[in-house]
This record gives sequence, structure tokens and C-alpha cells, in this order.
Amino acid sequence: MAKKDIRDRSRTRAEQFLSNRELGEDGTVIGLKSAYFIIRANDSSLHDCKPNRSTYSKNPEDETLLCVGDEVTFKRTNASGGNEFGVGVITTVKERKNKISRARDRRMTRSGESSLVIASNLDNIVIIASAFEPMFRPGLVDRYLVYAGFERLNPLIVVNKMDLCLDKRDHKDVIAITEVYKKLGYQLLYLSVETGKGMDSLFKFLDGKTSVLCGHSGVGKTSIMNFLTKSNFDTKDVSERTLKGSHTTSNAMMKELVEIRGYRFMNKSFIVDTPGIREFGLEMISKLEIRHFFPEFEVYATNCQFSSCLHESEPNCGVKKAVEDKKILKARYESYLNIMATATN
Ligand code: GDP
Repeated sequence: MAKKDIRDRSRTRAEQFLSNRELGEDGTVIGLKSAYFIIRANDSSLHDCKPNRSTYSKNPEDETLLCVGDEVTFKRTNASGGNEFGVGVITTVKERKNKISRARDRRMTRSGESSLVIASNLDNIVIIASAFEPMFRPGLVDRYLVYAGFERLNPLIVVNKMDLCLDKRDHKDVIAITEVYKKLGYQLLYLSVETGKGMDSLFKFLDGKTSVLCGHSGVGKTSIMNFLTKSNFDTKDVSERTLKGSHTTSNAMMKELVEIRGYRFMNKSFIVDTPGIREFGLEMISKLEIRHFFPEFEVYATNCQFSSCLHESEPNCGVKKAVEDKKILKARYESYLNIMATATN
């Protein structure tokens, strides 16, 4: 056979192999079940699937191969019968639109991953904080907001446990410390899972989107999740001694929201519950990037002498001047410095 024919044949084979990878049907990873990933196909049927050696990922090699929220193609190897799960093989992992991830020590992981991806393809991030027990901590909210900006997630700040405001003064204090975010243009919602107040507004925010809940331990994530999905993750009482809650959810899951207490979701809506979010870090985000996610800095940063100014100790910094002139909130600037101090690159 002529050399050209051999080349053509091998090219055809390679193309076939690549297009085979694309074959199969589309689905979404909605959960993990021991060694399997639960895939929901477009016809809503569920399948226990595994990747194999030729599973092809369109994501960086050093990222987790599969996580909740991933769009995949898969091949059914055994049909589902009745309520049984079908079985299949994941052939392709599509490119992630965005992700929630944590850096991990590459030397400590068998697969050599440097980034543990917890969930992907999200629209909303619901940043949960509480009015009391634990007290509202702006610094943590600021961290989540930086992350939201970086991953292009639409943030909603929820201030839960509003029922713990015992009098007008408590209420006023909470409003004073939280309204800052509204003024900065962020969406803010006061909530009480205990009384149900504010829940309808939360449903509206979640409608038609894929959302993730995150927040400091003890703020009520599990309680909100239970309310939304009527599931029975354990909730633990906040320890009276430390006033810090303990993290109680264990498996990443994506659930569809259909109807809750008379509210019918108009569009496909999903909620992702992510363990591991407690040790939320901004390791992936460099100092140069962090400065872009404090939106109120932007206009004053144009006055900085250096375009690469990090607004830390550089001379003639427009942002620092704006803080001195009380045009930028000192607390937000301090929060920015704290975040910069923990940035690893
Ligand atoms: P998580 O650690 O963020 O998942 O927090 P949990 O959902 O486990 O809640 C911690 C504690 O706060 C539990 O004792 C809940 O019953 C309580 N809790 C949650 N939401 C509310 C609320 O709106 N009001 C009050 N008073 N307590 C709440």
C-alpha cells in the first residue's frame, strides 16, 4: 500500500476514534454514589456511570475528572428498568463553564490533581451568613464575593436567622452592617428558615438556574437545603460553647426544585450541595485578579500612579486616597488587605 494511503487510513481511524468519543447521549452528573457517578439523561432517566481509560475530558488535565454539574456524553450499557438505575460509561466530559474548586497538594493525590473541583456549570452562588449565632462576618462574605466575581457566578447574600433579632436595636445593627452590600450593588436577602420569612424571594432567585449554597459553618446551610429539598441531611445544634457550628453534609448532590410550599418553579431549577466548601479558599486567584472584584475600587484605581498597583503599599494609590477621603469603606478596604495577605500568587 502506498505511504499516502496508509497515512489517509490512519488519519481516518484517528478521526473515527475522536468522533466515537463524542458519540452517546448527553447527560449531567447529578451525584456520586460510592464508585459511580449518577447521570441524568435528557429524558430524565438516571444511570450509574463510570468513566474508563478512554474517557475524554475537555478540561485541564490537573483538574478533577468528574464532579457534580458536569455535562457529559455517555453510552448506556444496560437499560434502566422501572425505577432501577441504568448503567453506562462516560465517554466525554464537556468543557466546564465555571467551577467551584480548591487547590490541593499535587504530591498528596494519586491522580496528580492540583485542583479539586467540587461542582461545575453553576449560575448562582447563594452566600449564606447569619445575623447571630454566629454573628455576621463581612470578611467571609467578601471572600465569597471575590470568588463569585472570578467564576462569573451571580451572587445573592442571604442573612439568615433574622428571627434571632430580639428587638429593634438588634435589627438596626444587623441592617447597618449588611446594607453596605446593597449599596455596592449586590443582591441581599434577609431570611429566617425558622419562620419561613424571605423564602419566597429566595425561590424567585433560584428559579430557572443552577445554584450552589455556601457559607460559614453554623449559618444554616443544611437547614435551608432541607427546606428546599425536603431531604434529611442532619443539622447539628451550634455548639453553645464555641458558637461555631459543625459541618454536617457529606455528599455532593444536585437536586431539582419543583414545588415548595405552593411555590411552583417555572423553569428548570437545580440546587447543588457541596461539602468541602467550608475550607473555602481563593488559592486560584492571583493578587492582580483579586483587585478587580472589589467593584467600588474601580473608579478610584484609575487615579493610581501605576497600572499594576495592588493598592497595598504603592505610592500615589488612588484607592488608598479614596479610603482616606471616606469614599471607600475602611472595613471593605481592610477586608481587601486581609484577602491579599492570604493570596498565594
Ligand atoms: P450549617 O452548618 O450552615 O449547615 O448550619 P445548620 O443548618 O446545621 O444550622 C445550624 C443551627 O442553626 C441549627 O441548630 C439550626 O436549627 C439553626 N438554624 C438554622 N436556621 C435558623 C434560623 O433561621 N433561625 C434560628 N433561630 N436558627 C436557625
